[in-house]
Amino acid sequence: MPQDHPYRRLQIPRDAPFELRPSSPGKGWGAFATRLIKERDAILIEKPLFIIPKPSDDITDEDVFAAFQRLTPTAKQQFLLLRDNAGGPFERINEVLAENSFALEANSEHGLYLLHSRFNHSCLPNAKVPECSGEIITMFAIRDIVAGEEITFCYNGDFECRTRRERHQALRFVCDCKACQLGTPFQQLSDVRRTFIRASDYLIRGVDIDGKRQNSSSPIIADRKLKEAAESLSIPICNRMIYHLLAAFLLEEEGLLDYLARERLEPFMVAISPLFETESNVRIVKNVMAEPTWLGKVHMAFRLYGRADAADETLPKMLRALRNI
Ligand SMILES: [Zn+2]
Repeated sequence: MPQDHPYRRLQIPRDAPFELRPSSPGKGWGAFATRLIKERDAILIEKPLFIIPKPSDDITDEDVFAAFQRLTPTAKQQFLLLRDNAGGPFERINEVLAENSFALEANSEHGLYLLHSRFNHSCLPNAKVPECSGEIITMFAIRDIVAGEEITFCYNGDFECRTRRERHQALRFVCDCKACQLGTPFQQLSDVRRTFIRASDYLIRGVDIDGKRQNSSSPIIADRKLKEAAESLSIPICNRMIYHLLAAFLLEEEGLLDYLARERLEPFMVAISPLFETESNVRIVKNVMAEPTWLGKVHMAFRLYGRADAADETLPKMLRALRNI
């Protein structure tokens, strides 16, 4: 690899715990840890080179060019260092934005991030860039990363619910992470787990990962009555709790239940438990919560399966009201 590759001239913060260098063949460049990075450590805090206040589909070459023109000479030089995945320059300026930007503010605007965009994708990553408000984005380690290890994050927020084939369609390149290596038991189980995580999510929220109801051509929930119950938020509280725990357990088995995912799930577990009203169910839920592992919790929660609870009268109304807020 030539020593004068343009990425060598990208400005990296002096104390950054990573370096940029060629990755495995076919993956272009990547970012590699230069020292031990502990779980929860911030890896990179970055301001965008510029922001274009439009959804991705509406951004034109002219928008990107106008943003480029407003940059300082140094920032212009940094922008011009960007190359496509194959190592050559881009043919259109809009392609530079497409491959180096992050959606902000619920996809209403896009920021160009020189360094975050140098990290490769994995469906089983060791780092995450949580959604945030404001233009500064931060990448955090979601497990300990040893010196020399490549640092990766997942490019799409809903991949925990997508099979290998669906992920590759969205990425438009072939990922070779552990969850993508065809013919391996892990990959086969991974597809099953991610499909069940998506189904559990549908049963809990009554909508698919795009926030919409599924049409009948690709049913995530094949049982029509169950699908209707999910969509009208009428799933009984006992089953609802099982779906939540099952999703958490499957995420853990898949290797995706990192501390940020736990911070998202755990408040719900705390919130749902006091909603049970029927005495015998309340006792089981107490035992569920006392189980130290997710597997133990799911196992215990199956005692609730199919049981009615006095809360089933009021819970759907409450959930529908919350949905309309
Ligand atoms: Zn993958």
